[in-house]
Amino acid sequence: MLNIVIYGAPGSGKGTQSDRLIDEYGLHHISTGEVLRDHIARGTEIGKIADFYISKGRLIPDDLMIRILEDVLDHESKAAEKGVIFDGFPRTIDQAKALKDMLARRGTRVHAVVGLEVDEDELMRRMLERGRLTGRADDNEKTIRERLKVYHTQTSPLRDYYIAEGKYHGIDGNGAIDDIFEKIRTSLDKLNH
Ligand code: AMP
Repeated sequence: MLNIVIYGAPGSGKGTQSDRLIDEYGLHHISTGEVLRDHIARGTEIGKIADFYISKGRLIPDDLMIRILEDVLDHESKAAEKGVIFDGFPRTIDQAKALKDMLARRGTRVHAVVGLEVDEDELMRRMLERGRLTGRADDNEKTIRERLKVYHTQTSPLRDYYIAEGKYHGIDGNGAIDDIFEKIRTSLDKLNH
């Protein structure tokens, strides 16, 4: 079993590299952003709350987000047997602690955190391009700026948290998708899990 957290600023390529990791390692992908966008599309109660925060570029409150993730893990436990790529979760230290507890209760743990490190102007460029190509609502300049601010204040402390746990694998996430994936693969292949 291999549980990986793919971590990085918005626009750092978490979703793109997750797709590669799924193919390579046969892992199950859980993207909290996608889970929330699905709720919004279906018009659920959670979707209404999520829309309020996402449209402002802010994080869904921890207690709710943690409950949503636990629910996904319960429902997708069969698919998750070989391991999971957690994409977009955790985004706060409290979420990281909750993830640790959740996995411990299931007899497992986070094996590695892949941290995609990308320059700020490149993040902005990628998200604006994604907004143009996909119409994703929060990929507009005003919301992107807020998401980057939130990343710096609430999410970036996770880097030190996972370094202290000995789990952090920093990857230069600038450049070509294939080259970045090669660096991730080299880094993960050294793991003894
Ligand atoms: P993403 O697709 O990962 O960029 O997430 C899009 C938006 O969903 C974020 O800007 C947040 O508003 C919300 N979101 C996704 N994951 C989380 C999380 N782990 N905690 C709080 N909010 C989240």
